[in-house]
Amino acid sequence: MPQVDAKLNAFPVFVRVEGEAVAVVGGGDQALAKARLIGQSSAVLRIIAQNAEPDLLAFIAQSGASHIAAAYDASQLDGAVLVFAASGDGELDRRVAADARRLGIPVNAVDRPELCDFFTPALVNRAPVAIAIGTEGAGPVLAQMLRSRIDRMLSPSFGGLAALAASFRAAAERLPKGNIRRRFWSDFFGGAPARAIEAGELSRAYEAATDLLLSNAPASGHIALVGAGPGAEDLLTLRTHRLLMEADVIVHDALVPEAVIAMGRRDAERLAVGKRKGCHTKSQAEINALLVELGRQGKRVVRLKSGDPLVFGRAGEEMAALRDAGIAYEVVPGVTAAFAAAADFELPLTLRGVSSSMVFTTGHDLKGNSLPDWARLAISGATVAVYMGRSVAAEVAGRLIEAGLSPDTAVAVVENASLANRRRFHGTLADLPSLEARADLSGPVMTIIGDAVAGANFERSEPLAAHRVAGASVAAEGVQP
Ligand code: SAH
Repeated sequence: MPQVDAKLNAFPVFVRVEGEAVAVVGGGDQALAKARLIGQSSAVLRIIAQNAEPDLLAFIAQSGASHIAAAYDASQLDGAVLVFAASGDGELDRRVAADARRLGIPVNAVDRPELCDFFTPALVNRAPVAIAIGTEGAGPVLAQMLRSRIDRMLSPSFGGLAALAASFRAAAERLPKGNIRRRFWSDFFGGAPARAIEAGELSRAYEAATDLLLSNAPASGHIALVGAGPGAEDLLTLRTHRLLMEADVIVHDALVPEAVIAMGRRDAERLAVGKRKGCHTKSQAEINALLVELGRQGKRVVRLKSGDPLVFGRAGEEMAALRDAGIAYEVVPGVTAAFAAAADFELPLTLRGVSSSMVFTTGHDLKGNSLPDWARLAISGATVAVYMGRSVAAEVAGRLIEAGLSPDTAVAVVENASLANRRRFHGTLADLPSLEARADLSGPVMTIIGDAVAGANFERSEPLAAHRVAGASVAAEGVQP
């Protein structure tokens, strides 16, 4: 809570500038910075600079600002609603400030707070919504930091949503005051109209808002199938972050780290639904049914999956169930484990002249005697990323060698990719079977196979071959702390 006696010395207001002149005096960087800021509004910019630098001239040409290329004179400020003294020349700025004050025009002098009638804020622009951050000069860096934090929280389409809201205001005023009107707006900003705007579908947003206005039914639910990325919490997309903050319910897999789940609202319901190898808490059918049920209850649900939701995430089944039940959903991509592992290894997944295709596979479909389709791709040079491959490492290596891939083909293995406790191993296809016996690898493991792997950085990886010995003794070693 703010202290009771903490008073603002500068009070924020929004100045009407549409179609009005705003004068900037100066021809250098400072003038350009102010011109850019004002250029975010519909003011008519008047730049007064006898010697404008090339960047400012380019800005003037591109923005259509008017340019007075003459020595400064007070008459040039006539009719302006705001003045910026930004010449970089202390004496001139002082003159400009004095003239502006005499003419009754509020003035801002760059880096001269004592000459300023007003300060310019750090600005988050989602026109018609603006968030202005001021620190009364205490910390421009602090203001910028806050600005970028707030910027991340707000969808780029937020302004469009606010504009649509404005067009519905009169109609919404006719709803009974209180709960019903409040619910309309909360469903408007958190429901189907907001999602349609986000997807760039203005007419659908308009229809959805009209539906909301006309129907008394509770808002329909929505499920976002969202990729939480490989583990590091800052590898989330901004969209995932926003959806997490809006969700009523978060349904997550076991691989999704707590730090990501914790980004949800404090009062959001959190449901863990498995699945780690060997300990499924819910069957896939139960998960599908749960999502449908939550959708029917009108909940905004984030279904969080590790990595990307469409890569070995069983999203196909969940989407089919939601489609069948007529529940709205969307998919938000995430950084898949193969990409995180490649980044940890500085490994080019495609390498000019070496590898130009890529296979995402799992070792778990190697049943029967036939060679998997992707073995042929591997032989023709594709980089192969093997998900869930640890317990079938020998099978994968055996099949690929049988298919004709050289046992010397390079292999990179990353456990806990993107996390601080990651471990990297390098070796060849012939070394790969040793993975199976390693009880010291308890985190998720990504295996990347192919000639492109040779382009990786092996400075921070251990050789796989060190464990190319008899499985039993390796396992025994592995369980020791
Ligand atoms: N949808 C996820 C994959 C789920 S399958 C994605 O796109 O990444 C689970 C498998 O992903 C694990 O067995 C492992 O092979 C891989 N995996 C997930 N996170 C990983 C990580 N941080 N490091 C290495 N492999 C990971």
